[in-house]
Amino acid sequence: MVDALLGLTFEAFRAFSQEVIGRTDRFHGALYRQLMRDGVFDPSASAIAPELPAQAIARLLEQAPRIVLPAVVQEQRSAEDGTATHKFLLRLEDGLEVETVVIPMRGGRHFTVCVSSQVGCRMGCSFCHTARMGLLRNLLPHEMVGQVIRVSQASALPVRNVVFMGMGEPLDNAEAVAQAIQVLSDRRGLAVASRHITVSTVGRVEVLARWRELGFGAVNLAVSLGAADDALRSQLMPINRSANLETLKRTLQAMPLAGSRRILLSYIVIPGINDSPQQVQNLVGYVAGLPVMVNLIPYNPIPSRSWRAPSGRELEQVRIALHRQGVPVRLRVTKGRAVMAACGQLGDPQRARQPRPA
Ligand code: SF4
Repeated sequence: MVDALLGLTFEAFRAFSQEVIGRTDRFHGALYRQLMRDGVFDPSASAIAPELPAQAIARLLEQAPRIVLPAVVQEQRSAEDGTATHKFLLRLEDGLEVETVVIPMRGGRHFTVCVSSQVGCRMGCSFCHTARMGLLRNLLPHEMVGQVIRVSQASALPVRNVVFMGMGEPLDNAEAVAQAIQVLSDRRGLAVASRHITVSTVGRVEVLARWRELGFGAVNLAVSLGAADDALRSQLMPINRSANLETLKRTLQAMPLAGSRRILLSYIVIPGINDSPQQVQNLVGYVAGLPVMVNLIPYNPIPSRSWRAPSGRELEQVRIALHRQGVPVRLRVTKGRAVMAACGQLGDPQRARQPRPA
């Protein structure tokens, strides 16, 4: 039996389709396009149906596994800046749930899908709501591809970018994420350009060292820093206890980056925790010699912490301090905070523990 259809690269799909119907690449390509763009596999309803003998259609339908797209359990919208951020709660085949967010970019001219790579997460970052769930399981490639298809169908919005910044640490499930990326970026299917795909990590150095070998060579890399001194970073992000800042920096310096691309270094600004002049100076020192763009992200409040979100003025102070010292920096506008759809707010630890029907 072939694997779940939505997780198949074109080559794997062609091998299956060829075995069942023989025929030329034109048929396999048309069937793959229908599969990925419409999220259905129904050769009798495809553009090439008139040319396919009824027996071939019957064989394909008999031998193809059924497609199960995640079901939309809930959709919430938040429209802070006039264009809505959509947060979807999606139910997987085994009844577990993930959240996927569709974020408007450039005033709603195009949209980014923020994909989850795991149900929960085991990285334990202290500013993140998902961390409270722990790790329930890794997602399979077809479940990540299925998120993109499902939310773009449900929202009817033009999706251009895909970011692996939802629930989970993508490099904790690296092979499956790499396969999902291969599927998403195949021009015969969904055709999301590799330069429009970003994988975000807390800095799993042993996986970053195999970045290209694993198949991530053409996509963008975002690394979450949290703090540029080891004591504070270890408090905020437990990963720092096994791979400290120096190890991370050495790894990033050796990264094979596509073209002139830079690493996006995410710095979550938490007032009174990591925004002091000294902490900002630490960051200036840390990024020296690294091909990065610092992405300042305002901390988004979560129920388990008493920290507050930074004001616009506090964020601007950090941005200006970095900019004046020659650090490439940009400020990310928070979207979706009203419906807990912003960075670090995904997941529901209570709901994750409740049994529910598949
Ligand atoms: S920030 Fe990312 S890696 Fe850290 S706990 Fe949350 S989901 Fe996991």
